[in-house]
Amino acid sequence: MEVKSEIYRVAGPVVTAIGLDAKMYDLVKVGNEGLMGEVIQIRGDKTVIQVYEETAGIMPGEPCETTGMSLAVELGPGLLSSIYDGVQRPLHVLLEKMGSFIQRGVSADGLDHKKIWEFKPVVKKGDVVKGGEVFGVVQETVNLEHKIMMPPNISGTIAEIKSGNFTVEDTVCTLTDGTELTMMQRWPVRVPRPVRKKLTPEKPLVTGQRILDGLFPVAKGGTAAIPGPFGSGKTVTQQQLAKWSDTEIVVYIGCGERGNEMADVLNDFPDLEDPQTGRPLMERTVLIANTSNMPVAAREASVYTGITIAEYFRDMGYDVSLMADSTSRWAEAMREISSRLEEMPGEEGYPAYLAARLAEFYERAGVAESLCGEKGSITVIGAVSPPGGDFTEPVTQNTLRIVKVFWALDSKLSQRRHFPAINWLNSYSLYKEGLTDWFADNVAPDWVALRDKAMDMLQVESELQEIVQLVGSDALPEDQQLLLEITRLLREVFLQQNAFHPIDTYSPFAEQYKTMQAIMKFGDAANEALSSGVPMTEILKSEAKDELAKVKYEEDFDGSLNAVLAKMDKEFAALGGR
Ligand code: ADP
Repeated sequence: MEVKSEIYRVAGPVVTAIGLDAKMYDLVKVGNEGLMGEVIQIRGDKTVIQVYEETAGIMPGEPCETTGMSLAVELGPGLLSSIYDGVQRPLHVLLEKMGSFIQRGVSADGLDHKKIWEFKPVVKKGDVVKGGEVFGVVQETVNLEHKIMMPPNISGTIAEIKSGNFTVEDTVCTLTDGTELTMMQRWPVRVPRPVRKKLTPEKPLVTGQRILDGLFPVAKGGTAAIPGPFGSGKTVTQQQLAKWSDTEIVVYIGCGERGNEMADVLNDFPDLEDPQTGRPLMERTVLIANTSNMPVAAREASVYTGITIAEYFRDMGYDVSLMADSTSRWAEAMREISSRLEEMPGEEGYPAYLAARLAEFYERAGVAESLCGEKGSITVIGAVSPPGGDFTEPVTQNTLRIVKVFWALDSKLSQRRHFPAINWLNSYSLYKEGLTDWFADNVAPDWVALRDKAMDMLQVESELQEIVQLVGSDALPEDQQLLLEITRLLREVFLQQNAFHPIDTYSPFAEQYKTMQAIMKFGDAANEALSSGVPMTEILKSEAKDELAKVKYEEDFDGSLNAVLAKMDKEFAALGGR
């Protein structure tokens, strides 16, 4: 006798069904309204489903039906500029369908199936094409050529290929075995898209943020985490990265953050201009908005949806940066689901597989040679929100074991209005060594030496600070007092950067270098003056040193910096040496 598949139990976002013939990770339609869910456990005749939509009011006995497919995203022209929820439903379509009612069970295609794109073939009849190879192109935006690739698992000989205007549903290519190809492919989000090989990252992600590029660079294809207590600047930093990073594609996942923060992103982004091209920033962006009021199970889906879209663009040979704000909210969702499943809890109630899940996600970053022979990269930057700013908690600790860059936000700095509030003493980058050649060739031969000198000085400053707090800086020898003055400049001129100032918000590498050079120039001149007998009080009168702090806000950076440097020369010449 066939068992009817129906809901057996509902516990928050977790629904148990009986009689369901489904595999792990199959997508399931749950209840009368057909809510979207995913199989996460099979125990005998019971199937446990995490539901991506609100489950209130759903009752045992309602039907349950598997789709036989796993959660997948639609990949093809039309991804760029999109704003999706966690399961790739375009927010504007949801809004239209739902009106002002929060209706459930609404399905919406990830791509616009009606929109016409101009498809240009790049292969011809008789050509043999392998999985992942490019068979056509679409100019998706002014600056981005969307490469239409074979699905990774399909290859064959071209029987017919068209040229002209089509929707993503139309067949544009037929293989001799009868396989019909469109401009769109579907890919299950939990499965990393295959590549030929992974390569070593050797270029930095240029972000225009001085402390990041200068002191703690992340490589293109690298991984970084930004942990920080509430209000310390995670969101602002992530948004700065999304706006300014020199990648062709940006995927921004707002995961479980408050709705108003995501609303800021949604309002801000459409008005922003890409500094590299002058085009709207949205043209290179895919936004995924899964806010704190949306069901927790969809947080995980949002992370996987985002990384799969990133992989798709990487496969075309593009550099992609992906920001996830915040991975802690995803971890909390795992904790909630795990407790509903009555699994044995690990540290602080998080499931034992927390570390493995986080690792799986970050491992999808990297530089790779794709199946079509292009070199692309995904840089993953995850925000972590440790409760109370305590970095010893499990999500921060597990993330730190995986990522290679750590930008530690510090509430003491944000309280002092030192922004970005990234602590330079306990942040680190493990990419510094590997990027040395790039810096020498692309910034300046002495850049790494300058930067390391600055880091050393800041380290000494923190040691001296303890003495200063006890006995005051006057008790220090003059050379140490001078060091404190130079590190003050490093902090205030170089490290501090105002994300909201139209000019200071983005600092090109050339300007970062010149700023650092100017500070060190002051340091060298002052040290020389000091050793030839000029008193510290005289050196501290330098106006040029204080004017240095204003250069970063000037439209004409070089002009104003040169004026300050000329003044500095004059001042030191006047001081002479005795
Ligand atoms: P979090 O996401 O960690 O809770 P936010 O990113 O919202 O914190 O930052 C909190 C506030 O700190 C911002 O509203 C802003 O006023 C200030 N802030 C953070 N970073 C910067 C920055 N780089 N420049 C200027 N202000 C900043």
